[in-house]
Amino acid sequence: MNLTCLITGASSGIGRELAQHYAAKGWTVYAVARSKDKLDELSQQAGIKAVALDLTDDGAVKATAEQLQSDGVVLDLVLLNAGTCEYVDVNDLDLAAFDRTFAINFHAVVSGTKYFMPLLKASLAPKLAIVSSMAHFFPFTKAQAYGASKAATSYFTDSLRLDLAGSGISVHLIEPGFVDTPLTQKNDFEMPFLVPVEKAAERIYRGLQAGKSRIRFPRRLSYLLKLLSLLPYNLRNSVAQRMKQQ
Ligand code: NAP
Repeated sequence: MNLTCLITGASSGIGRELAQHYAAKGWTVYAVARSKDKLDELSQQAGIKAVALDLTDDGAVKATAEQLQSDGVVLDLVLLNAGTCEYVDVNDLDLAAFDRTFAINFHAVVSGTKYFMPLLKASLAPKLAIVSSMAHFFPFTKAQAYGASKAATSYFTDSLRLDLAGSGISVHLIEPGFVDTPLTQKNDFEMPFLVPVEKAAERIYRGLQAGKSRIRFPRRLSYLLKLLSLLPYNLRNSVAQRMKQQ
């Protein structure tokens, strides 16, 4: 049976790798991002269809979803992965950086859910998967905008699952640690347990195929961060402070 998915953030990193992975498994993939040139190149691979779109433009997302619906497209999986990371300086908080980060990491997840979810309804086993991050498990330096946006996204996803229970649509939260992509290649600090992007896509694919509600990897980092979160509050704060100074 031919299955169809829509993957956002497919021009780069995790989303691009996922698009190629799903297409190689025989899925039809609607690959969404702004960079039309990169999507056109990606759509040379059989099964991948380019959808150039700015996901922070609600009107454009709505129009794209309506176009797909009128073309008779039925989606089996909507994978909302597009995102960005900007580090901020607390002594001169850049409000525009918060707006940009929340626009794609959070608001676009909400609008993607609103407009693409109706395309899942005719699927026999519809899945909605949202990529957040482990960043919100623990306070990290300069990550006020990114971590807060991912905390919002994880909360949204978990509460969405609660209210979609019984609708037939399963909701999946993906919280990766560090993955080697253009987003992290800009980082100038050591990234523990960095995962190659091919491995990240495989973990996400396998987790979704297995129907896992929450997909976290690498496990070592998630256990470590969760363990640190269990520390008494003041001790946790001093560990965070020490990590900042390293
Ligand atoms: P990436 O290589 O920078 O890719 C980001 C993707 O998002 C690109 O395809 C980009 O495409 C798209 N995008 C950004 N703004 C957009 C917009 N306004 N409209 C449409 N598409 C937009 O980053 P990545 O590392 O693969 O990250 C993918 C997701 O995983 C993000 O949500 C990120 O927060 C999350 N994550 C990453 C890591 C990591 O270590 N890499 C860890 C945890 C979570 P265009 O620029 O072409 O629009």
